[in-house]
Amino acid sequence: MTIGDRLRAHLFPGDGDEHGAVIAAGVSRTARASRLLARELYLAVDGVDYVPGQRGYRMLTADFVRDCVLQCADDELAYLAVHCHGGTDTVGFSGDDLASHDRGYPALLDILGGQPAGALVFATNAVAGDIWLSDRSRRELALARVVGRPVLELHPSPPPVPTGEAEYERQSMLFGEHGQAILKRQRVGVIGAGGAGSLIVEYLARLGVGEIVVVDPDRIAVSNLPRVVGSTRRDAHAWLRDQRRPAFLQRLGERYAKPKVRIAQRVAREAQRGVRVEAIFGDVVDHAVASSLIDCDYLFLAADTMQARLTYNAIVHQYLIPGAQVGAKVQIDRTTGRLIDVFSVSRPTTPDRGCLWCHELIDPTRLAEEAESEETRRRQRYVEDSGVAVPSVITLNAVAAARAVDDYLFSVTGLLDSSANTWVRFLPRDGDVEFIDPHDDPACPECGVSGRFARGDGGWLPTRR
Ligand SMILES: [Zn+2]
Ligand SMILES: [Zn+2]
Repeated sequence: MTIGDRLRAHLFPGDGDEHGAVIAAGVSRTARASRLLARELYLAVDGVDYVPGQRGYRMLTADFVRDCVLQCADDELAYLAVHCHGGTDTVGFSGDDLASHDRGYPALLDILGGQPAGALVFATNAVAGDIWLSDRSRRELALARVVGRPVLELHPSPPPVPTGEAEYERQSMLFGEHGQAILKRQRVGVIGAGGAGSLIVEYLARLGVGEIVVVDPDRIAVSNLPRVVGSTRRDAHAWLRDQRRPAFLQRLGERYAKPKVRIAQRVAREAQRGVRVEAIFGDVVDHAVASSLIDCDYLFLAADTMQARLTYNAIVHQYLIPGAQVGAKVQIDRTTGRLIDVFSVSRPTTPDRGCLWCHELIDPTRLAEEAESEETRRRQRYVEDSGVAVPSVITLNAVAAARAVDDYLFSVTGLLDSSANTWVRFLPRDGDVEFIDPHDDPACPECGVSGRFARGDGGWLPTRR
């Protein structure tokens, strides 16, 4: 059970009474937002740890608070006391609640040594928060996200219905004005701007996603043109790179061809007026590049190196950002030329399900080879992504990309059924589809609670510094 499920079961067992708990949370701070990432949950036992209060209705006992706060201090995590009130869509602290924060939290901040302390109060469909920072300043919680499938957003009270834009009228009929407004507020990262990534960027822009970060270290090649949407022969300097030209001209064409991220940026801007696109011409394995993704609301991995998989998977779990790995593969027997396998795949990854490390989709041998040297890495990327040595077809990418973006759309707008199939493999030769139910290993260093899970800025990403 996820922390969200355990907390809900504890706070709302159906008795209509108040219950308490403590969340230990990692912290992520960027220019866009500060986020608290629920890592551990300590449930207060009714009548033992959560008792009738001297001033308010109920309170956490001093012993329980002390044990939890010392544990948080040890683990360098934020401390969040949690309780529930009645009601459904609106919730707020009582005067007694706020007075108890005033009395207690300055001392807790001293123990925590820099990490925030605070409180959350839940109704069945709402949450409010009073967060204290180490300088004693206070912040109100803007919103809480339960990062499962679907992703649920909780607010202190129902947000006003936004005015719809005529452009998105027919989408809003499906996702609602709230759903469309969620898309507009989102910042979505796309790792890889090749065959699948270029399609994903176009889909996101047309759907009305407000901000897209696209990352890719490569320039467009002539052999990419059949798959990268929006790319032109001029972008690839096709006339210079023609085999009949002198070698130095071919090299010049290669060197000055347009970066794939610039093409994706152009496509996105043509698709949606006002979309913000951060085009990063670099490798996600570099720390500065990976850092630009940690404040995203969702990630798509459409690059096929093991290092990119490792970094993506780490960001998902360390920063609790859901995502999906997308790809298409054509396997050919190199000696006979016989076709072995063709498939397109979409693998959604939430912090609790679908870890690529658990499912042996990050091959340690290949990871080591890639890390060995820049030269090796470049060669592998060439083999994997250029489409010269490995067959690649736009429709195979499109099937996987559309599925992954569908899943994203239905998830973040809250329409996805919680029992929806997760991983999907499309087999075009058989006209068949395979569903895979991912099962993660609780002891996994990448997604397990003993590892980087929800560590936020307190953890180390496996990146190159
Ligand atoms: Zn209360
Ligand atoms: Zn794992």
